[in-house]
Order: sequence, then structure tokens, then C-alpha cells
Amino acid sequence: MRRALLGFAFIAPCLALYLARTNIFIALAPIFISHLLLLYATLVPNCQWWGPVIRSFQTTQPEVWLTIDDGPSLAHTTQILELLDRFQARATFFVIGQRAEEYPHLITEILSRGHEIANHTYTHPSGSFWAAGPSKTFFEIDRCAEMLRSGPDRPARLFRAPAGLKNLFLHPELNRRSLILVGWTVRGLDTVKRDPAEVAKKILREITPGSIILLHEAQRVAKDPEFNPRCLELTLEGLAQLGYQCVIPRPEQFLARTAGK
Ligand SMILES: [Zn+2]
Repeated sequence: MRRALLGFAFIAPCLALYLARTNIFIALAPIFISHLLLLYATLVPNCQWWGPVIRSFQTTQPEVWLTIDDGPSLAHTTQILELLDRFQARATFFVIGQRAEEYPHLITEILSRGHEIANHTYTHPSGSFWAAGPSKTFFEIDRCAEMLRSGPDRPARLFRAPAGLKNLFLHPELNRRSLILVGWTVRGLDTVKRDPAEVAKKILREITPGSIILLHEAQRVAKDPEFNPRCLELTLEGLAQLGYQCVIPRPEQFLARTAGK
């Protein structure tokens, strides 16, 4: 699909020139459509036209993969770790490199409690990553990876783009570094909604075994510091009631399609 997209983007101007002899509006159509397709591949978080995005994992058990983005943070990480301990849940933290650099002790703490850390770019440029050129893309991946390596032991094996927005250069660079791009199956929209109960309810309504759940930390710290931990707590309570366990899947379980759909 990647080759087809790039191929069409390449021939669209030639096609437009050819069609310009008939009608200017018809001539512009191939360019318009090719731009639309490029934007769709880039801006739709779980779209796989640029390359694979892990959107669920294979399991026969009532298991889900909890992923927490945008930490570490002084406001929430410790509280989140306590909640995860209380519910015997394991999670993957997609961390921002700058924050890992600032709070290396929290990275140590996450790892020492049996959770996983993963690469979520160095500066989290959610407004511009989709349009980033090669050098900005390399910088965001590599500088974050450097911060995570300077934490104890394992290098991160997983990457999540800020706000799930990919760019043209991302997949080849991730492949070169043996990093896997992870999306999600279910999100509670905790960056938009204001009520933790609504966030948890949406997640619990949509999960199936093998779902990847997306939650955040370090949001609304000044206005509502309890918001993110409360979203997590209600989600964990609901998962426990439904008999689900939060696990970190092995790479051979990863699926690029959505479980149960
Ligand atoms: Zn993020």
C-alpha cells in the first residue's frame, strides 16, 4: 500500500497535466485525491497504509494490554504505580524522552516494579510530527531512545507516535532500529472527556480479549490533579469485575488488526 500511495502521488501531477487539455477541474482531481489519501494515511492513528501498526494482541485468555502515555510525571507516576500494584496489573509506559531525562528515578521505579518503558518521542511534538522531515523524525526517536537507554538495562522495543500521527519517514526508520509501532484498540478519550467514570465506561464497553487500552498521565495537573489516576482506578476496578488481567504481551502475540473485529 505504501508503494501504491507514493506511486499515485508521483503520477498524479503527470495525470493532471494530461487532463488539463480537457477541463481544469477534472485535471486537479488526481492531485486532490492523492493529497487526501496521503493525509488519511498520516493522520488516522491506526491506519496501516504507511506500514504495520500493532492494534491488538493474540490471546485466548481474558487479558488486555494497558498502555499509559506521556509520563513520567511527578504528579502521577508514583500514584499510578501504586494503583497498578494494588490491582496486580502490569503496564507499558510510553514515555516522553524529555520527561525521562528530567525524572530518571521514575523510569527506574517503573522498571523495578515489573512494568515496561517504551519510546514516545523526545519532545512529543503532537502538532507537527505528522509533517516532520527525516532529521526531525530521527531526532525524536533517537534522542528519546538515548534517554531510555541511560535508564537501567533494557532498551525500549516499542514506539508510539504522538497523538498516533505518523509521517512518511517513520516506518523505514523504525524498521532500521527494530522498533515496533504500537497503536491501540480502545481509548477512553481521557484527553478530551472531563468525567473519569465516562472514560472508564467507554473503555470497559469496548474491550475484548487482546485489546490494547490507551490512557494518559500528566494531564490537567493544575485543574484536576486526580483526574488521570481516577480514570485508571475506575478502569482497573471495572477490568477486575469483568475478570480481565492486565498483561504485557510478547512480540509474537502482536496483531496489526483489531482483535474481535
Ligand atoms: Zn502522547
